[in-house]
Amino acid sequence: VSFENAINLSIRVTPNSHENVKAFGLPGVVEKSFRAQGFVGAIEEGGHLNCRILSMAPHGMGTHTESIRHIVEDGPGVCDVAPLTPFRVRLITLSTVSLGATEETYLAGEPADQVITNSRLKVYLKGFDGKGLIIRTNGELNKTCVDYTSRNPTYFTSEAMANIARSIDHLLVDLPSVDRESDHGLLLNHRSFWKVEVGETRLKSDSRVERTISEMVYAPAHVKDGDYWCLIAVPNIDTDALPCRVLIWK
Ligand SMILES: [Zn+2]
Repeated sequence: VSFENAINLSIRVTPNSHENVKAFGLPGVVEKSFRAQGFVGAIEEGGHLNCRILSMAPHGMGTHTESIRHIVEDGPGVCDVAPLTPFRVRLITLSTVSLGATEETYLAGEPADQVITNSRLKVYLKGFDGKGLIIRTNGELNKTCVDYTSRNPTYFTSEAMANIARSIDHLLVDLPSVDRESDHGLLLNHRSFWKVEVGETRLKSDSRVERTISEMVYAPAHVKDGDYWCLIAVPNIDTDALPCRVLIWK
């Protein structure tokens, strides 16, 4: 591989702007200038330099990666499980179907929900022995600047997630979640991927602590389906989800 020609799959976020991707009604990234006794961290207000304070809710503000700690009290932070070296990924594009039009299931689902099914997914996983999977859904949305809040976005059937969970450790999707937006807090697909039973709030011995889910990952149309090397770069902050840079190489 030539690591020179990286393709960026993370969405640009502009602080203090409404022109960003959003989800779950969470606030966007807010940037303020630090101020203290005579110090002003803003050049435009006469300061000597810019020194900003950022606040963000990673699950709702753009491309981010999360660890098992998203659904339990005691798992590792995402900075400890995002791989430090590139890994093999397969980028695939799937069309969605309504839940009512498939035999597949999702406990908290409604027939009109748009879902990713195992029947469409499984052919792409056959013969692939890499650890990463990037799923691009084909829809009409402008994925770099849409507010998914209350739009009941596409999610996965339980059968699709069960198949992914058989061999994939790093799942990357262009959706705001792998679960239904409103699922009564069950988080069924997150739980099946990380092997944490419904109702459990702590790790089990067979929980898949090394796995990550990345959401709102955007692969532009000119990036072809196929196999790539992938790097998920996150800051070294010990928390359950972090904004990330997703890079791939042919
Ligand atoms: Zn999330």
